[in-house]
Amino acid sequence: MALFSNVAARSPWLYRINAGSCNGCDVELATTACIPRFDVERLGCQYCGSPKHADIVLITGPLTARVKEKVLRVYQEIPDPKVTVAVGICPISGGVFRDSYAIEGPIDRYFDVDVNIPGCPPRPQAILEGVAQAIEIWKQRLQEAS
Ligand code: SF4
Repeated sequence: MALFSNVAARSPWLYRINAGSCNGCDVELATTACIPRFDVERLGCQYCGSPKHADIVLITGPLTARVKEKVLRVYQEIPDPKVTVAVGICPISGGVFRDSYAIEGPIDRYFDVDVNIPGCPPRPQAILEGVAQAIEIWKQRLQEAS
């Protein structure tokens, strides 16, 4: 178990959930995935395509009523000890959509958020810093669990 934890701690998997974003934050996430200057994988993590493989979940968007149930269902599929990161001001407070009839967020109404990355959208540097914080939290949780 300890060996597995050490191996896993060097390779956390990132998973992205779009909770009704305007896509601005998602473009910045794509920047950290595709542009070498901001390459998030240099932090020792990698994007994955399934919530069941994820360790760190990055959530964009204000959690619209239309996607709420799907987002909550996918979120529940991510195994513990997951680390939750709110990317952009929308998931943190609703941002420019706050108080809209179509918004069910902010996301901390439904689950705990470990790292907030404010901005509209946040700069790639801020996203890298937030992911680095999330990795440290995740390593700590793995150690506590082992
Ligand atoms: S924080 Fe700004 S860029 Fe990001 S989803 Fe909200 S409105 Fe779009």
